[in-house]
Parts: sequence; C-alpha cells; structure tokens
Amino acid sequence: MSDVLELTAAEALERIRGRDLSAEECFEAWAAAAAGDELNAYLWRAGGASDDSTGDGDGDGDRAGVPLAVKDIFCTEGIETTAGSRILEGYRPPFTATAVQNLTEAGLRVLGKTNMDEFAMGSSNENSGYGPVLNPWDRERVPGGSSGGSAAAVAGGLAPWAIGTDTGGSIRQPAALCGIVGLKPTYGAISRYGMIAFASSLDQCGPLTRDVTDAALLLRMLLGPTPGPDPCDSTSVGIEGGVELPSREDLGGLRFGVPRELSSEAEGIEPGVSEVFERTVKLIEELGGAVEETELPHAEHGISAYYVIAPAEASANLARFDGVRYGLREDDENLTAMYERTRSAGFGAEVKRRIMLGTYALSAGYYEAYYGQAQRVRTKIVEDFGRAFERFDFVVTPTSPTVAFKLGERVDDPLAMYLSDYCTVPMSLAGIPAISIPAGLAQPASGGPELPVGFQIAGPAFTENAMLDAAYALERAIGFDAAPPTVAG
Ligand code: GLN
Repeated sequence: MSDVLELTAAEALERIRGRDLSAEECFEAWAAAAAGDELNAYLWRAGGASDDSTGDGDGDGDRAGVPLAVKDIFCTEGIETTAGSRILEGYRPPFTATAVQNLTEAGLRVLGKTNMDEFAMGSSNENSGYGPVLNPWDRERVPGGSSGGSAAAVAGGLAPWAIGTDTGGSIRQPAALCGIVGLKPTYGAISRYGMIAFASSLDQCGPLTRDVTDAALLLRMLLGPTPGPDPCDSTSVGIEGGVELPSREDLGGLRFGVPRELSSEAEGIEPGVSEVFERTVKLIEELGGAVEETELPHAEHGISAYYVIAPAEASANLARFDGVRYGLREDDENLTAMYERTRSAGFGAEVKRRIMLGTYALSAGYYEAYYGQAQRVRTKIVEDFGRAFERFDFVVTPTSPTVAFKLGERVDDPLAMYLSDYCTVPMSLAGIPAISIPAGLAQPASGGPELPVGFQIAGPAFTENAMLDAAYALERAIGFDAAPPTVAG
C-alpha cells in the first residue's frame, strides 16, 4: 500500500488505467494516510467520524481516478462547507461547485475538505476558525495561506493532490512554503460557481500538486469535459484548446523578464530566497532561455491597491452571512440585534477588519479617493505587464519574500502579514496566470534548518500551456527532491 503514496497522481492514474492498481485500493491507501493527519490540514475526511455521505464518485472503469483534497471554500453537496469560518459551522450546501463537479465527473473522489484561513483571508492559515495548520517541514511554522490545509496535505503525504483558491497569492504562497507546485490560472479560466466568494474580481481556483505534470492534469480536469463558459458563472470562459501535458525539455527561444521591483530591489526578500532565485535564473539560461531585467513600475503599489479592492469586494460578498440563510444563528430580541450578534460571534478578527476597511472604502464621499484610486492603480499594473509581455514571454520572481515563518510571528502585525503576498498580488490584479514551483531550500533569515523556496513564472492571459511547458523544463533541471521530515520518516 505504502508505495501507492509514493506515486504522483499522474503515475497512480496510469497504474489504475493499466489495471495494476484499483481505484478503490488507491482511495483506501490515501484515506488511511489522511486519517493520520497531525497537521490539522483536514476539516472533514471521507470515511471520518462526521462522514455520512454516500461515497459515490469513487469512479469505475474509464472514470476511475485518484482521490483529491478540496479546500473547504468549495461547496460540496451534503458535506459541511465552512470556508474556515465559525459562521458557516454546520452548513451543508444543497449543491456542488462546478470545479469539484468537473473533477468528480472525471472520477476523482473527494478525500477530504481542507482547512484554510477564514474566507481565504490570510497568508498563514492562522485566521482559520478551526485552528492553524502546521507546516510538515517544521511544525512550529506556518504552511502559508490561505490554502494552507491543501498545501500541507499534499506536502505532508496526506493527499496526492489538492485544489485551492488564489485571490492574491493563496495557492502560490502556501505551495512555495510547503515545497510543492501551485498554479493560479488566468482569471475566468475556471468556473467560480459554488466557490464561496471573497473578492469576486480576483478569486480563481487551481491545483496544488507534487509536480508540474500533475498540475497540468488537474487543470485539464478542472476545465471539465466541455471546456468553455460555465452557464452558472458568467465570468468563466475556459481555456481555448484545453490543456496539454507538458513535455518541453529546454527553454530555447524563450525570453524571461526579471522585474526589479519584485526581485533585487524589493525590500524584505530574505538572502536565502534571493540566492535560490538567482541560481534558478542561471538554470533558465543554461536551458537556453534569455533572461533580462525588466520593470513593472507600479507593482510595488499592488499590495496597497489589493487591500482596498479585496476588502471592498469582501464587504459586499460577506453581507449574505446574516444568520438567516446559512450556518450560525445567534438569536436576539429583533432582527437587527440577531444580525449583529450572529456576525460578531461568527466572524473572526481579520474578517471583521476587512469588512470595516471595505465598507469604509466604498462609503459615499470616500469611494473615489480609495476604491476609484485603487482601480486606477490596478489598470496601471495591467498596463505594466502588457508592456513587459511585448518583450518577454514570461516574468519570473520569487514566489514569497521569505521561507515559512514561525506560528504567531506575524499575527499581531497585519502589515507584515500582508507583505507575504508582495510578489504574487500583482499577477492577481492583472488577472494573469502564474505558477510556483519548488526551486530549492534556504535557511530562514533568523537561522535554523533549511526550508523550501518557490520560484514564480507568470505569463500573459491564457498562456497556461506555454507556462506549464516552461515550468516543466525548469522543474527537471532543478531536480528538487527534498521531502519534509514527516514524509521521509
Ligand atoms: N493573503 C492574501 C489575503 O489575505 C491573499 C489571500 C488569497 O489569495 N485568498 O487576502
């Protein structure tokens, strides 16, 4: 059984198709692994104490697949879905998110729902209403967020692959901190239907996997059998031509831009992270890619714009959690008092902070000064990338300025926490696809054992295939084969 856990999802699928492994056996092996979760990565597990689902979708014949961990932000029919919030405790959606539906139709059975920062607001998973997730590389450190449960599950050998969501970095940053691959597709590539909304103009779901091939495979399955718009999400368009499995072995003829603002000139990038980044850039050149410095002059204002736009959208999206329609209800003498009590009991501190920020930014008299201004910065960032992509096929940066930090280290300093996404937020604002691949290990600036470092590759909208190909070639050259101590045993 245990060798099943060594396989990537693509390899396991191959064995299942070749009848060397049954889908049931594969599921059982992973269910047993997931049952040993000591990282608080799962909020719900198939076959666990709270599972009274029918367990269909385990796949048979051609549809047989490999199990999958699903971030608890995706609605799953009849299975508790909390988005990491106490306000949704006990909520069992009457429907399943299109992304999850597409995967179950491809034969992937849901192995469990993963822990996350409440409503996907956070970079460390410490904002979860159900306790933090521990990083499998060092249990005193955060796995990143907000898809920290998904990243820790894959890195910690508790799931073969997983899906998460990325609004400003929440797939790429935890992937980087846990030493796995994380891909944020182009905004609108995958349906958002049934994905609990945080900031609707930024939210996008995507794969967290052991390698680039698995990321491509999962992305292809996420698109569904008939790629194209999902009638349930008017902003979804699919990816024209679908997704191919990557096969490129060199980077000849490709041009990579290194934006100064997000690399050498950026403040707060740890020396160890810079070193791994520079080393990876050299590898690109060895593989035949051309690398040159470039600029994204407005990227440094990305975080400021993001922390107006995302809370503004969140303040509107979270208005629906009122004690009437979903989950928690704290009764009181009249309707308004019930709303207030429910929302003050159900939401955590970060969510409240963002609702207040967003409501303020959208209020009459301030709307232009904050929201309007942030939208103008967003347009400038879109234009910056447009100019860079006239000269370059891809832009590359470190994914996270630092390796995994200690639990508690940034909780009292929201601004330090927000800077975790310094290198990932600009791509989110521009709606372009980006992937993080593990590029090596580095010591934290404060010393201690080495931890994973992610390398980010971003391309123009809908260039997922070319981006995956480049990431694949680079992944082979990097040859990252370190594993967290819990897995290496
Ligand atoms: N860390 C960022 C935030 O807190 C991004 C989160 C995300 O991508 N969902 O908003």
